Amino acid sequence: MRANSGGRTQFGAQVRGKALGKSAPGRVCRRDGCSTVLSIYNHSDDCAVHEFRSTRGAREHG
Ligand SMILES: [Zn+2]
Repeated sequence: MRANSGGRTQFGAQVRGKALGKSAPGRVCRRDGCSTVLSIYNHSDDCAVHEFRSTRGAREHG
């Protein structure tokens, strides 16, 4: 068996009940090209920058 050298976590290890309200660590912003790692306290799929932009409206602006 190979040792896991990557950052992949094993599936099936989800915590039952999100009492702590933390998201899974190691998540990355869903925006393509954005490699910002999301905080476990950030429940959004976007980083702070993109989340902020998205809340400003979906109109094309830049
Ligand atoms: Zn981002």
